[in-house]
Amino acid sequence: MDDRDGKIWMDGQMVEWRDAKIHVLTHTLHYGCGAFEGVRAYDAVGGTAIFRLREHTERLFNSAKILRMKIPFSQQEVMDAQCAVVRENQLKSGYLRPLIWIGSEKLGVSPKGNTVHLMVAAWPWGAYLGEEGMKRGIRVKTSSYTRHHVNITMTQAKTVSNYTNSILANMEATDDGYDEALLLDASGFVSEGAGENLFIIKNGVVYTPDLSAGALNGITRNTIFAICQDLGLKLVEKRITRDEVYIADEAFFTGTAAEVTPIRELDRIELGAGMRGPITEKIQTAFFDIVNGRNAKYAEWLTRV
Ligand code: PMP
Repeated sequence: MDDRDGKIWMDGQMVEWRDAKIHVLTHTLHYGCGAFEGVRAYDAVGGTAIFRLREHTERLFNSAKILRMKIPFSQQEVMDAQCAVVRENQLKSGYLRPLIWIGSEKLGVSPKGNTVHLMVAAWPWGAYLGEEGMKRGIRVKTSSYTRHHVNITMTQAKTVSNYTNSILANMEATDDGYDEALLLDASGFVSEGAGENLFIIKNGVVYTPDLSAGALNGITRNTIFAICQDLGLKLVEKRITRDEVYIADEAFFTGTAAEVTPIRELDRIELGAGMRGPITEKIQTAFFDIVNGRNAKYAEWLTRV
C-alpha cells in the first residue's frame, strides 16, 4: 500500500501515490475527528461503474455536517474526483476511499480555525471476508466491546474515531479464531458487525436492527431493502436480541467491502443448517446482478467512470 505507482486525488489535484503525504501534527491524527467513505467500482456490463456514488457522497457530506466540518468542495466535484481516481489508476474494479480530515495549523482539542482537507484513493480489493466465506458463510463472535451509544460519537456519521471500537472488536474476534465480530448496543440489543450491517431470516421474514441500536445507515443495507421488495420478501426493522440470531434460519452481513456475506455460526452455535441459506443466496445473487449492471431497473445506481 505504501509504495506503488498510481495517483491519489488530494485537495483538488491528482498526486503521485508516493507523494500523497500529510504532516504529523495533523489534527485528525491526534484527536480522530474526521470522516470517510468506502465505495466500490465494479467491472459492470457496459463498462466500469461506481455503485451508488451519489449516496456515498451524500453520506460523506452528512458525516461532515454532523462533525461540524465544512468540505471545501461541492458534492459534484467530489463525485467527479472519485470517477477520475478510478480512471487515472486504470482500475476495472476496486475500492475507493474518500477521507476528510482537519489540517495541522494548530493542535488543541478545538479545531476551530483549522483547514478541512479531502482525498480520494482507490485500489483493487476482492472479497473483504474471503471468497470462501461468500460461499460457505463466516464464523462470528459476539464482541465483549459494546457498540457506540447513539449519543457518544454520533453513529450516523462514518467517523474515523468510531473505528477504534470496530478495530478492537475485530481484533478480539479474529484473535479468537473467528472471522468477524458482532457488536451489541449499550442495552444489549444487536447493533452491527465491526464494518457491516446484520440481517437475519426467520420463517421467510428478513429482519435487521433498527438504527436506534447505533448501526450505520448502510447503503448496502438500503440496497437489500430494495432487493427484498423485488423478491417479495417481508422486511422488518426492529430490536433484535443475540439469542434471536442463535435461532435464526439464516443470517448475513452487508457492507460495501463485505458485500453480502453469509454467516454460518455465532458464538460456536450453528445458524440454521450451518451454511449459506437459500434466501441469503437469492439475495446475494440479486445483489451481484445489480452491482454488475445485469439488472436494468437499477441502472441509475451505476455511475460510469
Ligand atoms: N456498519 C459499519 C460499522 C461499517 O463500517 C459499514 C461499512 N461502511 C457498514 C455498516 C455498511 O455500510 P455500507 O453498506 O454503506 O458500506
